[in-house]
Amino acid sequence: MPAGTDVPDLRLISWNITLKCPLRCAHCYVNAGEHEATGVLSTGEACAVIDQICELGKPVVILSGGEPLMRDDIFEIARYGTGKGLVMAMGTSGILIDSACARKIRDAGIRRIAISIDSADPAVHDAFRGLSGAWERAVQGIKYCVNEGIGVQINTTVLSPDIQSIKDVVSLGTGLRVTDYQIFFPVPTGRGTEVPWLTPQVYEDLIREVLSTYQNTGVNIRPTCAPQFRRIADTLGLSNPSWGRGCIAGIRYCRIFADGDVTPCPYLPARAGNVREYPLKKIWHESPVLSVLRDPKFLLGKCGRCGYQAVCGGCRARSYKPDGIMPDMCGGIAWPDTPGGDLCGEDPWCQYEPDEKSTPLTVPLDQTDLALLDALQDDIPLVSRPYDVMAVRLNIPADDVIKRLKILQERGIVRGLSPVLESRQIGLSATTLVAIRVPDEKITTVARLINTYPEVSHNYRRDNMYPLWFTIAGKDEHRIRGILDGIRQEAGLCEEDILELPTVRRFKIDVRFTFPGIPAKEGSNGRT
Ligand code: SF4
Ligand code: SF4
Repeated sequence: MPAGTDVPDLRLISWNITLKCPLRCAHCYVNAGEHEATGVLSTGEACAVIDQICELGKPVVILSGGEPLMRDDIFEIARYGTGKGLVMAMGTSGILIDSACARKIRDAGIRRIAISIDSADPAVHDAFRGLSGAWERAVQGIKYCVNEGIGVQINTTVLSPDIQSIKDVVSLGTGLRVTDYQIFFPVPTGRGTEVPWLTPQVYEDLIREVLSTYQNTGVNIRPTCAPQFRRIADTLGLSNPSWGRGCIAGIRYCRIFADGDVTPCPYLPARAGNVREYPLKKIWHESPVLSVLRDPKFLLGKCGRCGYQAVCGGCRARSYKPDGIMPDMCGGIAWPDTPGGDLCGEDPWCQYEPDEKSTPLTVPLDQTDLALLDALQDDIPLVSRPYDVMAVRLNIPADDVIKRLKILQERGIVRGLSPVLESRQIGLSATTLVAIRVPDEKITTVARLINTYPEVSHNYRRDNMYPLWFTIAGKDEHRIRGILDGIRQEAGLCEEDILELPTVRRFKIDVRFTFPGIPAKEGSNGRT
């Protein structure tokens, strides 16, 4: 990608603000310890980095470590970010949070906190974290934060292939009034290079079990460091407007290391630049390390030909130097030797085998695909087996129609096929388009609430200050008002958070496309 063009917005930053930590977690990717490492950004430098972040927009900034609460100036830094309009969050072990600390966290404007609980069994958690009593203190920390009205998420590192251990953590969290969970699948880096229990098949099965267990439960749970969850969710027919791409490293996300090094994600020790040398904006816009991750044509192996690459992309950290020991980041983060070759290999933990002939988006469609796309525009017959009829018209086997449609969908060329209903003729005479302004951390909850109204359709996430957009078709204005009032009250929104664009006049725009080599229909004014 040429520098500075088509650069996506940076949405999320994970910042290892310190390498000091009272714990000795077995999986620590930064090898944190008792003493601060040399070269850590000072208070003044950290505030200057916040200024640099603001030049790029308003990403969510997660202060993590090490243990971020080990820094004496952590609230000063957080308050500085909050004052600049950033959403400041924190990732912590929770063991240093008492009631006074929770109040300081809230007063510094930290709206979200992720606290690690790896097992509902205190002994298992303490052994993994390397400190007796860590579990008890983390649970207390959750309670103090919940009491202060801070949004709490539980982060769980998967320690065994048994789904029951995850279920137990979620039950524990539910009792503590926590609804959000991130389930971290190990990435072999830092101290966690060996994961004895994990094989690709166990990994795949566990992701599937997590998704199936918690679908439609009100528990907001996301497999993390497991980009294949989007492919697996697809096969289970699950979707969630807040999910985004499986791996967003370098695309919407980066990590700032304690000494100012920038990498695509915390588990990927490939240096993209350093904020002491270059402003973050320049690094985000111009670093070749980040650029290659944004361009699917660099993906290699099966990720390079996979129909799921747009929603998954594979874990770039697991593909990075898979045959060598991951470098210990405390010794300094290295530049990758060749960004494309090093970073864009296939994910060795993926079980999916794309068809050898399967093609990513960059490969042109053949004439049969084009004829099928043309036919889909207005020629789907209203019969019990429409694809059989289309197969005859296209002179191909019926199975081929289905197979081609599936591939077109995987490649994002066909998003979906659905009927167009004339709402007035079924008694829904009032319609409106609605946009809702809601903070990132509430998007999933509010999206679910909106979906409970049967009159709602097209509930989509958009990348702007009103992130949820949907339409309502009701029997009259009164019903529409009732739905909007209900959403506003239940979601705790104010009038200004809801932008309503009622339908005043309707225009039906019949857009048809013409395809190269496919004769245009009579009267078509379509575009290529
Ligand atoms: S590279 Fe791997 S660990 Fe990093 S964000 Fe992507 S999926 Fe997660
Ligand atoms: S082959 Fe790569 S892109 Fe496809 S599902 Fe597997 S990891 Fe994801």
